[in-house]
Amino acid sequence: MNYLDNVKIVLVETSHTGNMGSAARAMKTMGLTHLCLVNPVIKPDSQSISLAAGASDIIKQAQIFSSLEEAIADCRLVIGTSARPRSLQWPNLTPKECGDKIIQEASNSDAKVALVFGRERVGLTNEELQKCHYHVGIPANPAYSSLNLAMSVQVLCYEIRMSMLNLSSVLTEPEADIDSIEFPKDEDIERFYQHLEQTLLKTEFINANHPGQIMGRLRRLFTRARIEQHELNILRGILTSVDKKL
Ligand code: SAH
Repeated sequence: MNYLDNVKIVLVETSHTGNMGSAARAMKTMGLTHLCLVNPVIKPDSQSISLAAGASDIIKQAQIFSSLEEAIADCRLVIGTSARPRSLQWPNLTPKECGDKIIQEASNSDAKVALVFGRERVGLTNEELQKCHYHVGIPANPAYSSLNLAMSVQVLCYEIRMSMLNLSSVLTEPEADIDSIEFPKDEDIERFYQHLEQTLLKTEFINANHPGQIMGRLRRLFTRARIEQHELNILRGILTSVDKKL
């Protein structure tokens, strides 16, 4: 099995079709093939094909989604990229750790993973970054840390490739003992949040007229904790028991 087949590169609201082409080329040189475009400002065009050069197949097969949720629905690990430290306190990875983590998880046969890139001008929103289990930053010049989008795709795909070439050591690291852990897909976690919100509305813990930040904060909590499948089952069971009592 080629572990790289489990890795999706997700570009959110890219404005320049040339960047899509260059990102496709960056991916293919490193052996990655799954490109996902979330709401591209312009659909891939002749400029993306010409900058993709021999990687135009990646552009032609790219999947287009209307939301980040749809693009990552089948993913069990989501890593977001950022050019600068945000005010968010979030688990951070170096590019090498990001490569290792992606390969460790992608080595589980059906564990799709996503690496998410932001808009050329403004990157990813805080809300999008909060959907990610980890953040990764290329430790660039602090006075000018923002790489061109496709170049950051190149650097991080290179690290993924290095980790794959070092497979035996990456998979024997103590951290790699995740074979026994099953993580839920993002779409299952989304269903849990919907259930949680409905139940909290019924108990009136959340006021329908003034819902405030409760769901946002709970999402952060559960994303940070990275819930496992059996834990998700327990939480769903708890909600169902509350629903029954109501
Ligand atoms: N001003 C934006 C820069 C966006 S650059 C910001 O602060 O986020 C466009 C995208 O390229 C980013 O969203 C990220 O996906 C990627 N990128 C650029 N520089 C990067 C870096 N140093 N580390 C990680 N990703 C980077």
